[in-house]
Amino acid sequence: MYKRVLLKLSGEALSSPGNSFDPKILASLAKELKQVHELGVDLAIVVGGGNFIRGKMAETMGIERVQADYMGMLATVINALAVQSALEQEGVPTRVQTAIEMQKVAEPFIVRRANRHLEKSRVVIFGAGTGNPYFSTDTTAALRASEIGADVILMAKNGVDGVYNADPKINPDAVKYDTLTYMDLIQEGLAVMDTTATSMCMDNDIDLVVFNMNEHGNILKAVQGDITGTVITKERK
Ligand code: UDP
Repeated sequence: MYKRVLLKLSGEALSSPGNSFDPKILASLAKELKQVHELGVDLAIVVGGGNFIRGKMAETMGIERVQADYMGMLATVINALAVQSALEQEGVPTRVQTAIEMQKVAEPFIVRRANRHLEKSRVVIFGAGTGNPYFSTDTTAALRASEIGADVILMAKNGVDGVYNADPKINPDAVKYDTLTYMDLIQEGLAVMDTTATSMCMDNDIDLVVFNMNEHGNILKAVQGDITGTVITKERK
């Protein structure tokens, strides 16, 4: 079992068709995270914002890229607050820290404080990405995992249970990989994360577990190292 994990949730993982947030999904997620918390694992979460807006998406709507990226980062803060609220309803102690300061809403990101919260068994939710345009929340996950010394990034995917050699939703013959190295991802062009996030995980030797979060119980299994997803490491194991 891992001691300190960073869970990456995409914005879409909180939504359902027609709803930016699905209260049932949030409640179910919070119940599962409560069980993770009860295992005594240090849990940090990076949330995305794709259920509202992505920088690249907004560009096609005629919004300038940097502006659109700030909009995306603000969207992640909305999601962070939603996850916090769901966890609080389960009685799990939490703190939200944002990379863009907004002190009436959440604490600013301070790594020492984040570590202190984790030591005190509080779930820390990181919002506003890295605080910089042109980055993604996958890169944020790699960065924050490195900063807090997480053992692993758990990358919860929506409806896909790992990394395949082709898109399993389009190609029924697609084959799932059990293990990969970061170099494989780069060389084979496998679209698990953007290249900035991939190289950061590789350079800092952080393991990544890609798994399907749509089945209730999978996050708990992933934390316990008991999941049939894809494990990505720096060196081949
Ligand atoms: N974003 C950014 N810098 C960051 C993190 C995020 O500019 O450090 C912006 C970017 O526009 C991105 C959006 O916030 O598209 C939402 O994040 P992301 O697309 O990673 O969310 P997800 O796909 O995980 O829901």
